[in-house]
Amino acid sequence: MIFVVVDLHSVQLVKDTLDEFKELSGLSVNHSKSEVFCAAVPTVLQDQILSILQFRVGKLPVRWHPNGVLYQTYGHRVVYDAASNLHAKVSSVIHNKEWCWCPARSEDMVDIQRKLSLIQIKESDKVVWALTATGIFNCAATWQHLRSKQIEVPWWKLVWFREAIPKHCFIGWLAIKDRLSTKDRLLLWGINVDPICQFCRQYMEDRNHLFFKCSFSNRIWKYIMVLCLVSSAPEDWDLLLEWGIKNLKGRSFRVTLCKIAWWATVYHLWLQRNARLHAGEVKSEEQIIKAIRRDVKAKMEAIKAPASILHNTLCNNWHILLCTA
Ligand SMILES: [Zn+2]
Repeated sequence: MIFVVVDLHSVQLVKDTLDEFKELSGLSVNHSKSEVFCAAVPTVLQDQILSILQFRVGKLPVRWHPNGVLYQTYGHRVVYDAASNLHAKVSSVIHNKEWCWCPARSEDMVDIQRKLSLIQIKESDKVVWALTATGIFNCAATWQHLRSKQIEVPWWKLVWFREAIPKHCFIGWLAIKDRLSTKDRLLLWGINVDPICQFCRQYMEDRNHLFFKCSFSNRIWKYIMVLCLVSSAPEDWDLLLEWGIKNLKGRSFRVTLCKIAWWATVYHLWLQRNARLHAGEVKSEEQIIKAIRRDVKAKMEAIKAPASILHNTLCNNWHILLCTA
């Protein structure tokens, strides 16, 4: 769910961000499942917003009665019982700040009218965000309300940590959950796609092959691990996670470097796979390693650590200027 203020510049920014996200991740917005909800936006402006975003306009149900959305609670029959119509506004049953209903003709209408006294129509309308005690909107309360809480996974610190590069870790997180649109999964979804790996053109592309088993990725992976002074990392997602949980604990300079390098490698391999598949752009191993080195160096040079033989060796491998101050 994305909230945005009503100005075209901000809306365009959201659109550009979604497009950039698609470029980076290969994941695009599903237009059939996306809607725009506008509150008190003039029609002309709403049309401009819709033409930028290319989504349908959605309508939120109006809940004004203590029993909830009336036609959902009682069925559409209640609309006829009230001698009203589906598009009627609450104002159609208010006259001079008094309720003005026709006599109840059903048990449901009796129930509805009985609870009208709970609604203060003498007061002016005001916007209240029901999820917070203050009635004022805040993102945290909304997120807590929307999200479904799951059991904590043992690997979360490997992928979500303070120094993490968000776009790298997002792709890493999808890879951990095997949710990247690798070709084995596309075939499972019934999408007709050439199943062969974009890198080696020999084996079927799945998560384990693409990142570790493939000769192309494997050489890059091994090179990066050597720079991190790691010689024992398994080349299988499940085993690697187990290894990471055991060996990459804490927040030391080396642990942080290993995790950042891990996700930078996954990210740049995925980026290159997409570039080859969708745009025919081919980068060499050296170019990919260079891009990984650049991202890791930029991040690690901002992290303070004391000089030591270990840190100096790592920094030497990565051409990092150790930040000791
Ligand atoms: Zn391959």
